[in-house]
Amino acid sequence: MDLGQSSYPRRKTRQIMVGDVPVGGDAPITVQSMTTTRTADVEATLQQIYDLAMAGADIVRCTCNEIEAAEGLARIVPRSPVPIVADIHHQYRMALAALEAGVHCLRLNPGNIRKPEHIKLVAQEAKDRGVPIRIGVNGGSLHPDLYKKYGDRVTPEAMVESALTELAYFQEVGFEDVKISVKASSVPLMIEAYRQLSEAVDHPLHLGVTEAGPLPGGLIKATAGIGTLLAEGIGDTIRYSLTADPVEEVRAGRALLESMGLRERRNIDLIACPSCGRAEIDVIEVARKAQEAFGDRQIPLQVAVMGCVVNGPGEARDADLGIAAGRNKGHLFVRGQNVAVVPEDEMVDALVEWATYIHENGVEAALERARATSEAARRAAERDRDALLRAKGADANNSEQRVEVIRKL
Ligand code: SF4
Repeated sequence: MDLGQSSYPRRKTRQIMVGDVPVGGDAPITVQSMTTTRTADVEATLQQIYDLAMAGADIVRCTCNEIEAAEGLARIVPRSPVPIVADIHHQYRMALAALEAGVHCLRLNPGNIRKPEHIKLVAQEAKDRGVPIRIGVNGGSLHPDLYKKYGDRVTPEAMVESALTELAYFQEVGFEDVKISVKASSVPLMIEAYRQLSEAVDHPLHLGVTEAGPLPGGLIKATAGIGTLLAEGIGDTIRYSLTADPVEEVRAGRALLESMGLRERRNIDLIACPSCGRAEIDVIEVARKAQEAFGDRQIPLQVAVMGCVVNGPGEARDADLGIAAGRNKGHLFVRGQNVAVVPEDEMVDALVEWATYIHENGVEAALERARATSEAARRAAERDRDALLRAKGADANNSEQRVEVIRKL
């Protein structure tokens, strides 16, 4: 088994289309985010949508909370590079206005639009236009009757019942073009709600931990909730709800899917050693600079930043490209083979240059390119490795010395 690839059996769901993006069935799991601009501000909203699409968002949601927002959507939708979902809050008329604006999907919160005749009217209109709807249950805005029924508490059962009640209204008008979410800010609560929901329906599920909060806690909560469910085969589209620039939400979503082998790598996967007493450089700083230099460039390679040449090239031999620090210089390696030596202050630039070359020409061409220099590079790395071992020994953290001291206590 290739352990780099996903081995999680995925739960079978029906497929819906959000614009030209399939969600559910055997479609790749998609990444969503939401704009933070006023939707009425067409240019600012489009700029953010483009930024999100560049970072890897497949679908973007915009709030439709006022009539000016619906008018904005009418102008945004034709110019958007990705399908647009309109987020509807309390007014069913905003849902009708968003449909008129040409959005590719609606999101309705069953806790907010409560009158069955309004829900059915929106579902009928969406059906006539062939536009799907997300039933977006939120633990924090559960219908009061359900809240009471389940003992004045938000429970997984209450959230699932909310989704199924809404779905039943849709079914009354023959509308099944639906995806569902049951988000909560509590990770155990949302995990259990999604588990129960996935047993009850075969509609595609949109995963998220709502109001996860700022970094890094928000990132951890969202990853714990979404990652657990994905590993169980549950989930067809995801959104990180972070108190951060929405571009960070998209980066996080992509990173999670790529790290679980659920999406093809799109950007650089930067790995770095944790550093230790042997490190010849400030690994954190070099890794940060490398991350900044690569940004959202679409180079689907794994790049390693390693603090020393003793263990670095070996430990990162599976990376496409890497750099290991020596004395005032960096030893560049491609798939574990030394290819060049660069001055310390040029390490990041060299990584970007070689990554671009490999992306355009392939690993073999890169090794060929280095044919003239690789032998000298290998010898230079060897010399630095020996010098470092002589200077710091095999036990760079002085562990054995410490053990001796402890024994004498
Ligand atoms: S031994 Fe070298 S590569 Fe490994 S953690 Fe220490 S500095 Fe990094």
